[in-house]
Amino acid sequence: MFKHREVYLLNIETQKFLTELENCKLCEWQCGVNRITGELGVCRISIPHVASCQLHPAPPQSYTIFMAGCNFKCLNCQNYSIAHYPDTKTVIRGYVNPKELAKESINAINSSMGQFIGADRIFFSGGEPTIHLPYIEKIVEEARKIDPETKINFDTNGFLTMKSLKRVLKFTTSITFDIKAYNDDVHKALTGAPSEPVLRNAEYIAKHARDKLWEYRILVIPGIVDVEEIKAICEFMASIDPTLPVCFLVFRPNFVLDQYMGATWKLMDKTVEIAHKTGLVRVNWSGRPNIPGYEPKDFEKLKTKVSKYYEHEWALKAAAYALKTGCKTHPRNCGICNMKHKCPIKNYIPTRIT
Ligand code: SF4
Ligand code: SF4
Repeated sequence: MFKHREVYLLNIETQKFLTELENCKLCEWQCGVNRITGELGVCRISIPHVASCQLHPAPPQSYTIFMAGCNFKCLNCQNYSIAHYPDTKTVIRGYVNPKELAKESINAINSSMGQFIGADRIFFSGGEPTIHLPYIEKIVEEARKIDPETKINFDTNGFLTMKSLKRVLKFTTSITFDIKAYNDDVHKALTGAPSEPVLRNAEYIAKHARDKLWEYRILVIPGIVDVEEIKAICEFMASIDPTLPVCFLVFRPNFVLDQYMGATWKLMDKTVEIAHKTGLVRVNWSGRPNIPGYEPKDFEKLKTKVSKYYEHEWALKAAAYALKTGCKTHPRNCGICNMKHKCPIKNYIPTRIT
């Protein structure tokens, strides 16, 4: 929980660029809360907090800054310990002066290890970087004072307002963009948020900022984001432009879906086949397939309890897992949920991490 004294630890200039957080509407939840005085929105983050930073060899190779907190509550979250900060009580780095972080990032990129792995940009990830946008803009500004050519990647779940998206596109060199699901029911059941703003933003980037698009990333979860969903997402992409780059990621059991089965090799190959059939030509998959799992014994009972809220069978399956943790609002909608500050999903502790 945010402490007022934290604000006094910030210098005047810093407070100025964070003024926007006094009426926060950075993402599509548009909470309008005053994060500076300690009011919290869906993300439950006050002032920007850095979780950790490291050189990262995954393309695009970078110095990655993982920001704490997220505006989604995905059942499959791989970074749940930082995404659900501060509820997870994870030890994180905390607020870092943007000028210092900019300098540190450029030094890391230019270090012998940075050069060895081919790091050429600062990569903002999380959690969800959108909820820290003014802070990130400040880091970029400071980094480009040191080196005007500094490249930036923004890694997002796509739930930005159009205004925030346009701001991101002004400073970012590349963007990696997750599409969690196409069907609104499935998206809500999996993340707690609707799919429409994400699809709108994905389309906007494809049409207006194609040069900045690194790739769309789609996590394949058997029985939830499975062939039918993949087909819908791919048709959506192909109707905009068949040459859009798409990377399918293998689901590994995680967080609330800790006992669930991972995506198989066969399913991943099928996914690429489906994508090609819709006309997409720049498609690949990555990750570690074939991790076994099982469904809980009481699963059919759980599904019955939420069946009237979801039309889609796969949404129902995801929602049953959410219900198992204690999620009370169905269809899941964290923006209107009166448990958003005591969310049982945020407190879930997985017993298996793969
Ligand atoms: S969820 Fe979004 S709009 Fe709400 S406080 Fe967080 S960043 Fe702001
Ligand atoms: S309990 Fe409420 S805030 Fe938590 S995941 Fe469910 S809908 Fe979202």
